[in-house]
Amino acid sequence: MSETRSVIIIGSGPAGLTAAIYAARANLKPLCIEGFQAGGIPGGQLMITTTVENYPGFPEGITGPDLMAKWREQAARFGTDFITADVDQIDFSKRPFTVRADDETHTAHAIIIATGAKAKWLGLESEHELENHGVSACATCDGFFFKNQDVAVVGGGDTAMEEALYLAGLCSKVTLLHRRKEFRASKIMVDRVMKHPKIEVVTDTVVTEVKDVAQKKVTGLQVKNLVNGEERELKVTGLFVAIGHVPNTQLFQGVLDMDENGYLKTQAGTTKTKIEGVWACGDVQDHVYRQAVTAAGTGCMAAIEVERWLGAQGLH
Ligand code: NDP
Repeated sequence: MSETRSVIIIGSGPAGLTAAIYAARANLKPLCIEGFQAGGIPGGQLMITTTVENYPGFPEGITGPDLMAKWREQAARFGTDFITADVDQIDFSKRPFTVRADDETHTAHAIIIATGAKAKWLGLESEHELENHGVSACATCDGFFFKNQDVAVVGGGDTAMEEALYLAGLCSKVTLLHRRKEFRASKIMVDRVMKHPKIEVVTDTVVTEVKDVAQKKVTGLQVKNLVNGEERELKVTGLFVAIGHVPNTQLFQGVLDMDENGYLKTQAGTTKTKIEGVWACGDVQDHVYRQAVTAAGTGCMAAIEVERWLGAQGLH
């Protein structure tokens, strides 16, 4: 077992790496355990996006992987150590806390959880093939690329309603496809969608194929009405899948408080969890904003809170 660290950061997306930059610059010599949860590679969900145009400071835009590479370089420059592995065991029952990854045990006085979330997908091969080529799970991130075009949104929850309304402000037409007649979304959001002149709501309908893999771009959707079995093609150039997200919190089940969807609960106005010495930041505790810039903001909060807490404990 290696020496006890001041802080271990679990996760290497915008939240984890921002926490690492702040912790390293405060001389806490953080260890960042960068896992593979978001898209099979370290760096979080931005590693599986193309151009990022809404991160402040990059007027020309930057690709997700380039942005994360810069972020990682900045964290390393100030002395963050990295381990590339998924954490498979944690023990928060006593301090210092124990974290196990890649058959090695690490201990730390403070832990920052920044394991993120991942979007749910329909599970179609064509959807996967066309991800970032017209298929997206984030209207705020990618809607702009579909200005004055016809797009479709799939889902019947609040996220789908929000995405449809956001896209209606940019696109010529938005078709909202939902597999049932009843909506999970709040009534006020459904009403707003129903009344919007640019949104057409199509219920009892699922997407069976995204076209056209051969052209490597979205040209339309094969959709099926589940009541009468009818199939037809819907001409759109973009598909926004808005059927929910899954936070990467399996490891913390029964250990930390979560909401009904598995997001970690933090105390209002802070990134503290219910366990003293354990913080959570980024998408793992935020199902509302889910932006790189907000994740970075809460990552910064977590590092500052940790630094002050360690000082108060006489550990720094
Ligand atoms: P939800 O789980 O609420 O809704 C997911 C929707 O996607 C459901 O309508 C579901 O259909 C549909 N769906 C799921 N899987 C599939 C599939 N394989 N094929 C087709 N459709 C599918 O997720 P949201 O992301 O919308 O919301 C998550 C939470 O965040 C909720 O509590 C929500 O209220 C909250 N939220 C709040 C916002 C706000 O207050 N502004 C904004 C965004 C989210 P079905 O209903 O048939 O299961």
